[in-house]
Amino acid sequence: MEARAIVRKLVASPVPVSVDRFSLPHEMTGTKYTFEFSKGEKQILRKCKKTAVSKWAECHRMLVPESSSLPGPWRNDVTPYLVDVMDSLFFSSVQTVIVCAAPQVGKTEVLLNALGYAVDREPGPAMIIYPDKIAAQDASRDRIQPLFKSSPQLTQYLTGSTDDEGSLRINLRHMPIYMGWAHSASRLASKPARYILFDEVDKFPTTSNKKEADPQSLGEKRGRTYRNRKFLKISSPTTESGPIWVALNNEAQVVFGYKVRCPICGHEHEIDFDQIKYPDREGMDPSLYAETVESEKLAAYECPNMGCKWDDGIRDKAVGLGGWFDRVTGIDIKTYLKTYRPKKIGFHIPSWLSRFVSLSEVAAAFLRGQKSSLNPDWKEKLKDFMNSHKAEPWVNYQQERTEAKILALKDDRPRLLVPGGDVVSCMTAAIDTQSGRGGYFPYEIRAWGYGMINESWLVADGEVDSFEALAEVLWDREYKDSQGNPYLVRLALIDAMGHRTDEVYDFCRMNRGRILPIKGEQTMARPFVYSQIDAYPGSNKPIPGGLKLLRLNVTHYKNALSNRLEINPADPGAYNLHSEVSDAWAREMTAEFVNEKGFWECPKGRPNHAWDIAGYNLAAADLLNVKSIKKKGSAKPRKQAPKRTTNPYTNGR
Ligand SMILES: [Zn+2]
Repeated sequence: MEARAIVRKLVASPVPVSVDRFSLPHEMTGTKYTFEFSKGEKQILRKCKKTAVSKWAECHRMLVPESSSLPGPWRNDVTPYLVDVMDSLFFSSVQTVIVCAAPQVGKTEVLLNALGYAVDREPGPAMIIYPDKIAAQDASRDRIQPLFKSSPQLTQYLTGSTDDEGSLRINLRHMPIYMGWAHSASRLASKPARYILFDEVDKFPTTSNKKEADPQSLGEKRGRTYRNRKFLKISSPTTESGPIWVALNNEAQVVFGYKVRCPICGHEHEIDFDQIKYPDREGMDPSLYAETVESEKLAAYECPNMGCKWDDGIRDKAVGLGGWFDRVTGIDIKTYLKTYRPKKIGFHIPSWLSRFVSLSEVAAAFLRGQKSSLNPDWKEKLKDFMNSHKAEPWVNYQQERTEAKILALKDDRPRLLVPGGDVVSCMTAAIDTQSGRGGYFPYEIRAWGYGMINESWLVADGEVDSFEALAEVLWDREYKDSQGNPYLVRLALIDAMGHRTDEVYDFCRMNRGRILPIKGEQTMARPFVYSQIDAYPGSNKPIPGGLKLLRLNVTHYKNALSNRLEINPADPGAYNLHSEVSDAWAREMTAEFVNEKGFWECPKGRPNHAWDIAGYNLAAADLLNVKSIKKKGSAKPRKQAPKRTTNPYTNGR
């Protein structure tokens, strides 16, 4: 037996061998021979081993025109975000790499480069598992065989016999490559393999056979005999319970996100879809506007730090300057791997990292997923946007509130008119703090009835763009009923968690007693809790006199709001709107849905201020304990109370 062939056979063996020195029985005589590498050979072996997959790919990988828009030698600068994904698979501690990625980001190339590297540098039996037999055969013909035939370095491992180049098994000189598919339970069960590569796991059926384990665990069993086994799982996501999302969230010990660096201001961050901007086209159907945005390339990215404008070219540069970071600790991937030596790691790759996907294409995909009368299959398209661009699962939801149902809650009062007849016990206000457009405050003022029935009326809604204007709306403007009785805003709550926390705190401090800063939280044991704060955020600068921050359980209040909106407007406890409420306001009230985890969620990019602040206003009524306020002389209910009835919150004015 030729010495080189023996070496290959040994390295490919499932029994771990020392690379320095090994012995093997002669094929014919059975006599044991011991081989030892010379110093020079050992050095070469070490050097070979140390090459990263990405470096190896640049030397030896060729892309063929049939499967690549950029045929020729592999270049890492085309998909810089794939470098660490490939390289980390061969990091000593890493056994499993999970890649949750949008299509068009080159995730299949990760598999092919890893396979090529394994064949050339760390050989061992490999199994690639596809969703079905046809996919396995197609991949073998269109991807795997061209991988070997296009690269001189890899061609040398082909035996030259067509028998060895089958569609479901390729026998190289020193190792086999098996093509499996999810339904091939017996095939999966019979072959041990050091490399198990799963392609498109979300397209796998849940089990290969009713009595069998699922294809993933079945495949993983094949690798058990190898201490240095490697698993690669690649897919676009489908739903939250789909295999790749489950693997990313439950199996991976660390999930890396890709931070780009702004070529203009240097800001490092993960690209935020909400920062992909395009001009407003009020009144134009979103599905039609999508075509315009895409064909005229209207979308651009706005760097969240300085508002630097990026076109696709600058985006590509920013991606080139970027790198992977642990999403929890913010530690870069190289430091993380060395420090924590994780076994199972995950990568999340949205479409907008890829130079093959333009920002306008992303924006258009989002617009196509917006509900409109011209767009009956918007849900399918929104699903596509989530899976194929955000690389996130699709959450199917029941929309409980329709715009029409919200608009049906209107009564005949004009905006700013408080209902008369002594039905109102007090008024509250809620304000959102928005940073866009130079900063503005969507607000809502609501009047509350008496007692447990807790009927309420929207009195005013709108937006102001300064704290001065806000003070005027809250405390200087006169709100009256039809008889001319004035009403005051008794308590206001303002969101303090936008970008203007310092200013909100100052505003609340200067208006102590009638407005509170709030922080919304999804999970809390109680509806609300106060926290004492003594310093401005991120500093030791004391807040004069300190301040109470109200922490609100937004899940609780949004659930309550959702229930409240179900009440028929003719029934006690109705949630009334004034007659001038706009369709846009009603749409905002329908924006959010309850996700699979039971939390209210807003689809990215959909305005929901009205819904948010309506929830805050319910909390304000709770804080004032409106339900316990009883009407004076309420023993005899009067339909039309005389106007001289003193309102307890107007100091008798
Ligand atoms: Zn910037």
